[in-house]
Amino acid sequence: MKEFEREKHIRYFVANLRMLPTAYTETETNRMTLAFFCLSSLELLGALEKEISEQDRLDWIEWIYAQQIRLDSKGLNREHCGFRGSSYSGRAFDPNASETEYIPYDSAHIASTYTALLNLLLLGDDLSRVDRDGIVGTIQCLQQKDGSIAPTKDSLEKDARFLYCACAVSYILDDWRGLDIDLSVEYAKRLQTYEHTFAQSPNNEAHGGSTFCGVGALTLMGKQTEGLINKEKLIKWCLNQQTTGFAGRPNKDADACYCFWIGAALKMVDAYQLVNQENCRGFLLDCQTKIGGFGKTPGSYPDVMHSYMGLAALSLMEYPGIGELEVAINTPKRSIEKQKKERRAE
Ligand SMILES: [Zn+2]
Repeated sequence: MKEFEREKHIRYFVANLRMLPTAYTETETNRMTLAFFCLSSLELLGALEKEISEQDRLDWIEWIYAQQIRLDSKGLNREHCGFRGSSYSGRAFDPNASETEYIPYDSAHIASTYTALLNLLLLGDDLSRVDRDGIVGTIQCLQQKDGSIAPTKDSLEKDARFLYCACAVSYILDDWRGLDIDLSVEYAKRLQTYEHTFAQSPNNEAHGGSTFCGVGALTLMGKQTEGLINKEKLIKWCLNQQTTGFAGRPNKDADACYCFWIGAALKMVDAYQLVNQENCRGFLLDCQTKIGGFGKTPGSYPDVMHSYMGLAALSLMEYPGIGELEVAINTPKRSIEKQKKERRAE
């Protein structure tokens, strides 16, 4: 069996954290999330503290806070608070820029708010400068009458991903005022298909990514029992997606990211022991590339998302040398544990 290339992975993530290859240009607005994949991977590899200088750590915390849109004193921007995905508009580099002013097409995004909070925790920040009331109020505005969540005000993309992000943000802040839990559970029920697993939106096809989001949202809300329509059948569907690794849905090839998305869903419903871990491990090790990182399939070029998911999937099977994950929140346990301890001490 192939070796686990720890040192190469560390070099890969450090390099991508500093400068992404040009192929990522079109994903500029998601820079917050791309940074999360690199920071979280280095933490899982136990290398974050050693590889990141104190100055970089402090600078990056400042960059993240510069992406925050805070609630203004009159509450006029209450639909737009949280974190932007990047400083692409240039406004975040302007020392005179307002912390509260909302400019169209430059609003916070619920997915960026989620990964910004995780990045702050990974960098050892205590979230004391996070505008909690602003974020909670915005989640309230983003939740629709049917319980779905829009990622930004007026966005037409209202699906399982953003319900998950809203639950994750509420969980991290330990503040659930933004979400109507009953309505959210009802929506999560409507996401479940005739195969009893989750689709991206009601009446769509079951999918591995949405299954992670749906099971994750219910787990974070503490509503698995009420929300899962048929847990046994959901487990069966998930297990049926495994060949060597996992595919995202029937008749597709195995892909490193679904070893995490579906593996994590199985872990959250206490069924991970039913996975053929030897096959999954072999597939993931074959997805490693010569320059470090993981491709989505053996032989494909690496990207930071599949590389993080490869490590996260190996973490599910307690692979030696990889840290433990808090699975429902999809982040290394160590970074979220510190925050929980501080919360208890308050
Ligand atoms: Zn994939």
